[in-house]
Amino acid sequence: MEVLFLGSGGGRFATITQRKRTGGFRITFNKEIMQVDPGPGAILTSSELGLDPRRVTSLFVTHCHPDHYTDAEVVIEAMTYGMTRRRGVLLSVKSVLEGDGRIGPAISKYHRERVKESVMMEAGEEFSLGGYSVRATEAKHSDPYTVGFQLRGNKDWEILSYTSDTEYYRELEREHSGARVLIANVTRPGKDRIRWHLCTEDALRLADEIGPELMVVTHMGLKMIQKGPESECQRIEEETGVRTVPADTGLRVIIDKDSVSFKKMLPRQSSLLEFGGANPWIKNTTTKK
Ligand SMILES: [Zn+2]
Ligand SMILES: [Zn+2]
Repeated sequence: MEVLFLGSGGGRFATITQRKRTGGFRITFNKEIMQVDPGPGAILTSSELGLDPRRVTSLFVTHCHPDHYTDAEVVIEAMTYGMTRRRGVLLSVKSVLEGDGRIGPAISKYHRERVKESVMMEAGEEFSLGGYSVRATEAKHSDPYTVGFQLRGNKDWEILSYTSDTEYYRELEREHSGARVLIANVTRPGKDRIRWHLCTEDALRLADEIGPELMVVTHMGLKMIQKGPESECQRIEEETGVRTVPADTGLRVIIDKDSVSFKKMLPRQSSLLEFGGANPWIKNTTTKK
């Protein structure tokens, strides 16, 4: 199982300024490629990284906020080969698929009808995809339909969790227990908590309770970006012993039986396009199980 990040920003001002991009991430498992929360720039970034969006086989939009859904319809157009074939699975929630009063829908009926299967998820529900199970996890967020998820393979070491946007609550740990890799949407630094989101202190608690082999901090708001996510992650790591890294465009996380490893590009000095066919993966790190 492998995760590739198409950005690491989230929240209104990080999205408006595009300081860290907001394309969500892709998970590759079995023969599936699942695109998760494609916010603004998902398609552009995937193109810059040399990825073909037509290879995406499923799309998970966790809730109805633009930093999570704006490129969803284009992903569907790619997944269906330009709407010429009924192909791919769309996993999402009521607000995104049908709308509910003030919010949504975020994906048109025209697009929903072109995918092979459109699945409306609620917390606790499971869906089988490519022999893996996707369980929607509870989130407490301003869109009340928001879910995160846990993805499990047949083998007990293939477990990945994603919090999506949520505030910390006591049972959050239970929703993501067993995760070897935890992707946490940490919008604010330190204890600079805002409603409906995690801050560093919340993430620290969560890492301590769940004890994954690796926690990846993403969906960083402007204050988090300005404070410096590296030092925030270092603090989590020192206090919990959980290896913690900030997401970045092009970060790949690989979950193998014996190890969780990641490959990271050096900070971009110029456009990603200039990397071309050269080897952009310069810094390699492996954490042993
Ligand atoms: Zn968000
Ligand atoms: Zn949100």
